[in-house]
Amino acid sequence: MQVFKTVQALQIHLNDLRKNGQQIGFAPTMGALHSGHLSLIAASKADNACTVCSIFVNPTQFDNADDLEKYPRTTERDLELLSEAGCEVVFIPNAKEIYPENIVIRNDFDFGELDKVMEGAFREGHFAGMAQVVNRLLEIVEPNRLYMGQKDFQQLTIVRSMLKQTNSKTELVMCPIVREADGLAKSSRNVRLTPENRQKAIVLSETLRKVKERLTESSIQDLEQFALVHLNLPNFRPEYFKVVDGISLQEIESIDDADFVVACTAVWAGEIRLIDNMILKNN
Ligand code: AMP
Repeated sequence: MQVFKTVQALQIHLNDLRKNGQQIGFAPTMGALHSGHLSLIAASKADNACTVCSIFVNPTQFDNADDLEKYPRTTERDLELLSEAGCEVVFIPNAKEIYPENIVIRNDFDFGELDKVMEGAFREGHFAGMAQVVNRLLEIVEPNRLYMGQKDFQQLTIVRSMLKQTNSKTELVMCPIVREADGLAKSSRNVRLTPENRQKAIVLSETLRKVKERLTESSIQDLEQFALVHLNLPNFRPEYFKVVDGISLQEIESIDDADFVVACTAVWAGEIRLIDNMILKNN
């Protein structure tokens, strides 16, 4: 496994691989890696001769200074995990490499409603910062395929739109959500849950599962209401629970209104904000 800290050294290496006809898969992360991230590496390794994983805690996508400061940073352990997973290349730039003064980084994308709803309504500037860094990383790595998790469903949908807007040749691959044994979606932020809230946090996946089970019995409106009540445990505060068209992210009135339907939720568990989602229908 080779570790690069500068854009230039990384690009020299990747250009050599490309000259030899090797395909490149890319999984951007913010580190504090867990098996969810490693599933992206495994998916990329299955499709590409070289897998690149980046670790960069991008300051421009944090809407909350406390969250940025407390975001877990475990670089040594991350490198061990990536090496064990057979990742070929790791890119760990500092902020100056990603945002050098002499480069204007495109951030004029128009995501229509995609970045206004759900996370967009609660985390100001988050998606603009995310799109900026993903676009910059894609310009640096120029991968054949980009691997992202369904866990951040809205992020992935926005990146799909960004790839279209930049006429990118990179193929976007969605990897399923990896969960803890009790159903909680793996997240770097889970380690910050209090033991009591960690136990209760299974309510997110449980609620999503119950909504899916009741899909044919209740209206979407009733299901959303049911979910919000269910999520409202002591110390827990649901921000939203929405059943949306999985492409436009617009709310639907009936399950028959779209072919691809996803339920998405965000809940504060004490001081920690958790997100989760479940595909309800995909034909
Ligand atoms: P992050 O480091 O949180 O920015 O995540 C980096 C990538 O890993 C994103 O594409 C996430 O969607 C993906 N990811 C995070 N958690 C999971 C999970 N539990 N299952 C699958 N993918 C995940």
